[in-house]
Amino acid sequence: MQRVPAPFRCFSEWHSSEKFTDDGVETVTSVEQRKVERSIQEVISVYKQIHSLPQPTLLRDQHYQYLKKGLHHLSDAYACLDASRSWLCYWILHSLELLEEPVPTSIASDVCKFLARCQSPTGGFAGGPGQAAHLAPTYAAVNALCIIGTQEAYNVIDREKLLSFLFSVKQPDGSFVMHGGGEVDVRSAYCAASVASLTNIMTPTLFQDTPTWIVSCQNWEGGLGGVPGLEAHGGYTFCGTAAMVILGKEHMLDLKTLLRWVASRQMRFEGGFQGRCNKLVDGCYSFWQAGLLPLLHRALFKEGDSTLSLQKWMFEQQALQEYILLCCQNTAGGLLDKPGKSRDFYHTCYCLSGLSVAQHFGNMDLHHELIVGQEENRLVRLRRTTGLQLLFASKILWDAFASV
Ligand SMILES: [Zn+2]
Repeated sequence: MQRVPAPFRCFSEWHSSEKFTDDGVETVTSVEQRKVERSIQEVISVYKQIHSLPQPTLLRDQHYQYLKKGLHHLSDAYACLDASRSWLCYWILHSLELLEEPVPTSIASDVCKFLARCQSPTGGFAGGPGQAAHLAPTYAAVNALCIIGTQEAYNVIDREKLLSFLFSVKQPDGSFVMHGGGEVDVRSAYCAASVASLTNIMTPTLFQDTPTWIVSCQNWEGGLGGVPGLEAHGGYTFCGTAAMVILGKEHMLDLKTLLRWVASRQMRFEGGFQGRCNKLVDGCYSFWQAGLLPLLHRALFKEGDSTLSLQKWMFEQQALQEYILLCCQNTAGGLLDKPGKSRDFYHTCYCLSGLSVAQHFGNMDLHHELIVGQEENRLVRLRRTTGLQLLFASKILWDAFASV
């Protein structure tokens, strides 16, 4: 398919071309898939009727207002996320960071004080005050504090006890449980590697055998499952691959089959990504899947692959931007899974993270932008923040590629 060179200035025909291949066998999946395609066609036709100049727009102000309000007040609908309050801090702060919206000093200080109350006396962070320490909110809290990046924020983290918590959840085979007595999966290895790297508390024994265990999660499909033997999944594949990058062992993965698997997860009609084979498109995989491509680019470059592009990642960057901008924005602010779904802070964070990945290629020396729509759509380029060895979530992409 012909593409307009960057910067993109007119609406592509991506969404009116190839659709889901119908083999005539009706299944729950094929029915749902057609519903999604119809909803996207409606969104695009309404968009074309309203806008004489077809330039998709990032609703910056609306997203900012939605995020700012979330730092002050959450509706009753969030009561079920009482054990995810550290995550809410991270999702909102990271989204604001991508939009280049500063957090007022007093609010940043309030977030530090709140996260300090989430820190367990025995090390690690919980999802809320008084709850048990868990690797996922530990990742969220440490990353949120690093985004704030003040002395007050860094002082919250008890690094000695954090290390002791990480050892307490380490298993003899190299894996980690999410919390004391909890389940093992590849998220835990990533959360542990991320926070240990960020806070510079890595030890030779902490991640002993972890790379070998992560490699055992890569299955015949090419992606990684949560544990050995499970179906490949975008979230787990990102976590496992990113953990391997942090540990400097990404070459142990079968990179070519991983590349084939993730590239095949971009939906040819919707432009966004699915999390697993035969699943529906979902905005959050704009990050979990598209975020893998910079990691793979860098890993293959290190292996001496001379066929790599010096201008673009190995996915359709324009199509992903169009999906996010046209199908995943709530007009009142916040982003979402797909048309018809509600907005939430999780999807806001990962849709924006994916949009940033799709807009920016390269590293500090080599940078190529591809901005769909107006210039104001440009999000902050993911980059290294000084002072800490930042290798987390979206930032890992920039860091990882910086050495190419
Ligand atoms: Zn989602």
